[in-house]
Parts: sequence; structure tokens; C-alpha cells
Amino acid sequence: MEDCVFCKIIKGEIPSEKVYEDDEIIAFKDIHPAAPIHILVIPKKHIATLLEVSEEDSYLIGRIYQVINKLAKDMGIDQSGFRVIVNCGRDAGQEVMHIHFHMLAGRKMGPKIVG
Ligand code: 5GP
Ligand code: ZN
Repeated sequence: MEDCVFCKIIKGEIPSEKVYEDDEIIAFKDIHPAAPIHILVIPKKHIATLLEVSEEDSYLIGRIYQVINKLAKDMGIDQSGFRVIVNCGRDAGQEVMHIHFHMLAGRKMGPKIVG
């Protein structure tokens, strides 16, 4: 996916502040943080949106939650708490068409459902 900004981050063509990487998954700091801790966790496989997640991606998506779990403990926000958001499509405001899990922490979050 040559025009995908997150595929470029995966390939190292665009710099990012990585906090985790393995064969299938990468996590890095959001360039415009909406909270003191704002990490994006993404699969290296280019999946455009939640609607493109298929049966064969089930294990991968489960592993993303395991990475989030590990990061929460490593960053010491497992006790204080954090929020995970996946935007899908226009009305949710999805800007980057490569599925990503926002991990937000470090402050008391507002309403239960954003905006
Ligand atoms: P969305 O609105 O699609 O759910 O979220 C996309 C997120 O990606 C935004 O929070 C935005 O700040 C972040 N983002 C967009 N381009 C870049 C980039 O080049 N580097 C990093 N680290 N984050 C980006
Ligand atoms: Zn991509």
C-alpha cells in the first residue's frame, strides 16, 4: 500500500517514536496526542478498516489486545486505566485508512463515549 502513511511508518520511510514491534504488530506515539499517553497499535498487515477484518485476522486482532495489555503494564497505566478506540469510516472521523487502535491514558477521560 504505497500511499498509506502507516505502511510507510512500518517500512521506516516515515519516522515514528516506536514503543513496541514484533513480526506482526507495531505501536508508536501518535503525532498529535489527545492525552498525555497516546499510542497507536497497528497490524503490519494493511487492513483498511474494521470492516475489512476477516476470519483469518482473528488471531492477529486478539494479539493486538495482548500487546495493548503488555504496554499498559509496561507503561504503568494498568492500575490507573486507559481507553482503547477504533474509528471506522467517515462519521467516526477515521483519517488513516489502515486499522489502528488508539490507546489513551494519563488523564481522567471525559464522557464514556467520546464526542
Ligand atoms: P484516526 O482519526 O484515523 O482514527 O486517527 C489517525 C491518527 O493518526 C491521528 O490521531 C493522527 O494524529 C495520527 N497520525 C496521522 N499521521 C501520523 C504520522 O505520520 N505519525 C504519527 N505518529 N501519527 C500520525
Ligand atoms: Zn497501510
